[in-house]
Amino acid sequence: MSIDVTTELQHAVEDAAAHLYVWALKDIPQDLRDALSAARLKETSVPGKRVLETIHRNITIADDQSNLVCQDTGIAVYTYRVGEHFPLHPARIYEALRDGTARATLEHPLRSNAVHTFVQDWDGLDVKCVPKGSGSENMSFLKMCVPADGVRGIKEFVLESIVGAGGKPCPPGIVGVGIGGSADYAMYLAKEALARPVGTRNSDPIVAELEDELFGLLNETGIGPMGLGGDVTVLQCHIEHADTHMTLNPVAVNYQCWAARRASVHVDAQGNLDYDREF
Ligand code: SF4
Repeated sequence: MSIDVTTELQHAVEDAAAHLYVWALKDIPQDLRDALSAARLKETSVPGKRVLETIHRNITIADDQSNLVCQDTGIAVYTYRVGEHFPLHPARIYEALRDGTARATLEHPLRSNAVHTFVQDWDGLDVKCVPKGSGSENMSFLKMCVPADGVRGIKEFVLESIVGAGGKPCPPGIVGVGIGGSADYAMYLAKEALARPVGTRNSDPIVAELEDELFGLLNETGIGPMGLGGDVTVLQCHIEHADTHMTLNPVAVNYQCWAARRASVHVDAQGNLDYDREF
């Protein structure tokens, strides 16, 4: 591939990164809007209802004025899947994301972070931007469980973590749980989990069942919107898992606040950009 074409492609990815960050901060996805609307209908506590009404008003104002959904622009977390035939080297992709983010920071201060995986026989690139508020990121927890702790140990740790967090991570949000791998990989999985569309279920039925169970249990804690008490503590619980060593079972919990911002783009080998909220 010629240097000119590579440079053009790098610029296309940079443009996409700059757009994704601002888009994610100002316009939350429909699945999150639906989950927050359902929470407004479900909540029965007076302070909890008031919080959810305020969140609703906040989103409406952000839409009307094309403004930030939350003042905390957080750290910009980009995840990307790159086809092995995508004609831009991962180092150039990283540069493009960094430079695009830097351009966006002329309007919104932030830091950025990136992870990547290779996908064989594909010449495309998918990038997802998930701005992560500090209130929720501070509520990140890791426990090195052992197999003897069983599923019960996992459930106890998730519940203890969220009860301990109380109102600090701006609930109701999404609880991401990462199980397996190593300590650092479990936390990566937890973040992957909360970046999924709200209410999606893990393809493994055993894990999906645990997602359903934890979602119910977490909403029985009574923490409620902003920790003021109520029926809706979380909008969802998503889990990702990986194989691990036979004597390990790391469990990570990563919280995403109600402002669960998310924006994505598909980039083809010619540098065409296809923006998409649905993955
Ligand atoms: S944790 Fe989320 S809702 Fe709370 S201030 Fe930060 S970005 Fe906003």
